[in-house]
Amino acid sequence: MRYSQYYIPTLREIPADAELASHKLMLRAGMIRKSSAGIYSFLPLAQRVLKKIIRIVEEEMDRAGGMQVLLPIVQPAEIWKQSGRWDVYGEEMFRLQDRHQRDFCLGPTHEEMITTLIKNEVRSYRELPLRIYQIQNKYRDEIRPRFGVMRAREFIMKDLYSFDRDEEGLNRSYQAMYEAYERIFTRCGLAFRAVEADSGAIGGDVSHEFMVLAPSGEAVILYCEACAYAANDEKASAALPPVTMEELLPLEKVATPGQATVPEVTAFLGVNPDRLIKTLFYQTDEEFIAVLVRGDDELNEIKLGNLINKPYRLASPEELAAKLELPVGYVGPVGLKDKGVKVLADLRVKTMKNAVCGANLEDYHLRHVNLERDFTVDTYADLRLAKAGDPCPHCGHPLAETRGVEVGHIFKLGTKYSKALGATFRDEDGEEKPFIMGCYGIGITRIIAAAIEQNNDQDGIKWPLPIAPFQVTILALGVEQQAVAEEIYQELTAAGVEVLYDDRDERPGVKFKDADLIGIPLRLTVGPKSMAQGEVEVKIRRSGEELRWPRPEVTSRVLAFLKEENQRHSN
Ligand code: ATP
Ligand code: MG
Repeated sequence: MRYSQYYIPTLREIPADAELASHKLMLRAGMIRKSSAGIYSFLPLAQRVLKKIIRIVEEEMDRAGGMQVLLPIVQPAEIWKQSGRWDVYGEEMFRLQDRHQRDFCLGPTHEEMITTLIKNEVRSYRELPLRIYQIQNKYRDEIRPRFGVMRAREFIMKDLYSFDRDEEGLNRSYQAMYEAYERIFTRCGLAFRAVEADSGAIGGDVSHEFMVLAPSGEAVILYCEACAYAANDEKASAALPPVTMEELLPLEKVATPGQATVPEVTAFLGVNPDRLIKTLFYQTDEEFIAVLVRGDDELNEIKLGNLINKPYRLASPEELAAKLELPVGYVGPVGLKDKGVKVLADLRVKTMKNAVCGANLEDYHLRHVNLERDFTVDTYADLRLAKAGDPCPHCGHPLAETRGVEVGHIFKLGTKYSKALGATFRDEDGEEKPFIMGCYGIGITRIIAAAIEQNNDQDGIKWPLPIAPFQVTILALGVEQQAVAEEIYQELTAAGVEVLYDDRDERPGVKFKDADLIGIPLRLTVGPKSMAQGEVEVKIRRSGEELRWPRPEVTSRVLAFLKEENQRHSN
């Protein structure tokens, strides 16, 4: 490709509203332009990257038994009402009506659509398993679209749905997808990690997220360096500390005037925060719920939501005062049962002895509070946010923390959608059974942003070779060098190399800057000095390494470089 005939509208200035490196660089490298919030046009360079990613994804999905289809983007409300998600999805769903005032949405995901299709088509266990996927635009009216294509309102997703007759079948499909995902992200040249993820209120289900590791990623990952454990912070857990062997001391009420926060109370009483029981109040339509966590722990709202498993909200100080006569800042579990409050507690609370908590009386706390003797708990569960340094739940080694961008999510659905939509098949025993389903997504357009987030420097993008828009760029510094550059361009193109030849009538400085910004893995420069010596200047974008290659060897050396790089990312 000749740069002079190609459309790469690079920008010198840094776009004002872009925060993340990938967002800035995609705008500056002339890859995307914003249409409205979270909705983008993909320009030629981005389109080339997109196609490369799609190709890798298609190859691996097909290899894992996937069959590609294309489902409608415009979906009727009825199927969403049947699954119960028409209301649950809320404002993230783009809704529209046709001329007959019938309700539709723009598909944010396709479980309802595919389940309805399969319900009407597949009758017998003999037709299973089925693994069906598509690569298509998805629409989500994100509350905060940001970071360019990273969190967009229109984006491209690969979504595969598996249909099996039993749990073993689902496990096989899930495993096949897990391995396909590992191959996909390896082949894209990305450093990534699969982590255990929260699978929502449907207990017992399994889910993994695939994270491209990057310090700017939205997701927090806790992982163990000693064993294979890794989970996102919504899901992560930690081993419990041992129960301390302490003698139970008599309960004591102490005046703590004006000491309402954890730091205040612990400083005032001269105890560590891990001695304190924090009591938080929530309410559902039916009841008040108190949640106990240790003073040095934070509550994990996702875990709490899964446990409560119905709509709930934080109870306001006014409600607590009016309905339960509880003074905020001085609350604790002792006596809550008498007020009809349900008590949930994090597992760590069970290990506490001689604790401190509020006395449910303004300006007073209790000391030497002990479980069973002084208060009881209805349900214990893992309810705390795990953090770096906690002991690994599998092996006890301290957990480490890193950040990532979620690029893929795989999920065992079970019969959630097949039951709701009445999608059944006739099994070998003649019985009608609901399909056992899984769903498996990849954010294709998000991969582009994640790849840049992981691979950039102050000058621009450093594409991993497998998804680079071009493999090699050639720069001719002056008019005298154009004949040689042209020759190399022809030679490499004939050898099947994807070349961007910068033949523009621009100053060398401009060409160097653009080459670094666009980030093509290998840069060949024909300048006056090197040409006189019969050589070509070479720069490897990723490492910054600079070399000189004799002119006659250029093509064979380029091919050797590409081969070696590609081998690094193969599997
Ligand atoms: P997130 O937690 O980031 O909102 P999600 O859990 O809503 O993601 P899924 O419904 O599992 O995402 O979608 C599958 C994949 O689609 C995600 O792993 C991600 O790569 C991609 N994706 C989801 N939302 C967006 C978005 N708004 N813009 C771009 N890609 C997205
Ligand atoms: Mg989301």
